[in-house]
Amino acid sequence: MFEVGIRDEFAAAHAIRDYNGPCERIHGHNYRVEVVVAARETDARGIVVDFRDLKALVRSITEELDHRLLNELPAFDNKSPTSETIALYIYSRLSQAIAGLGLQLRRVTVWETERAWASYSEDT
Ligand SMILES: [Zn+2]
Repeated sequence: MFEVGIRDEFAAAHAIRDYNGPCERIHGHNYRVEVVVAARETDARGIVVDFRDLKALVRSITEELDHRLLNELPAFDNKSPTSETIALYIYSRLSQAIAGLGLQLRRVTVWETERAWASYSEDT
């Protein structure tokens, strides 16, 4: 099995609901997103997926989050935009987008800081 990944970044603000601490106030992060996909085979060129194509797919999602107050987006109407729920949101959007490419979406990881991240993957 091959695994291929890309990283992207976006900047956004959020506030964590039902949280007793400074994170309940609106503040910002430079989020980093890592997406890993897998495939059993490469194409004839030895490529699983063109990095540019994967980056463009991820970018089409992260640009909707960029420079936003995430709490105001419909995706987070009923839940706090934590790193966990952001990872799930990107995973859900991306799994639809890459289903047709013959790729398996393995994992989406979202970093709030250099030292704190959350990831989402499905049980296989
Ligand atoms: Zn935060």
